[in-house]
Amino acid sequence: MARYTGPVCRLCRRLGDKLYLKGERCFTPKCAFERRPYAPGQRSHRRRKISDRGLQLREKQKGRAVYGLLERQFHNYYKQAVKRHGVTGQNLLRTLELRLDSTIFRLGFADSRAQARQIVMHGHIAVNGRRSNIPSHVLKVGDEVSLTSRGARSEYFNIVKENLGSKEVAPWLSVDAANLKGRVVTLPELEEIGAKFNQATIVEYYSR
Ligand code: SF4
Repeated sequence: MARYTGPVCRLCRRLGDKLYLKGERCFTPKCAFERRPYAPGQRSHRRRKISDRGLQLREKQKGRAVYGLLERQFHNYYKQAVKRHGVTGQNLLRTLELRLDSTIFRLGFADSRAQARQIVMHGHIAVNGRRSNIPSHVLKVGDEVSLTSRGARSEYFNIVKENLGSKEVAPWLSVDAANLKGRVVTLPELEEIGAKFNQATIVEYYSR
């Protein structure tokens, strides 16, 4: 599935918020949003009144940027969320968080979702013992994530293992740091996800 390949810091500046798309760099003074907290472009300093629709669009764009998705795939997740039982916004966020790339990021195996996506696509990750190189693979409760033999040979994961203790693991996941394995133990709750955007506003945007 295609993805956005342009400069990601520009997205933070355009959408007016730090979206933490670059891992470590986002926490340093090098962060582009810290240095230039205004929209890119020549007339970016002009104040413009944003309509309600514009605000909804902005939240939706933030959601897309955080998970690195293009419009069609993001909209498809919304359509699936509508069809399922429960609150649409929560269903949407759960699906996004249970994607394989997002899970690898939340386990602390990668510094950003973009890096996690690359790890998956390079065949380093197995789900329930079988290699999966599909970042959009949505996990279920009980699914186990581990390294493939290729991943186990990679020097990168030795560094991950050393640093794993200092990383925060999402509450819906458990991690076996010694063997670099993770498991989905429960479904993520809204308040645990701590999204950088308002999922209810995204639902309003699409339901118009
Ligand atoms: Fe956004 Fe991170 Fe770039 Fe800062 S460094 S602008 S938070 S992606």
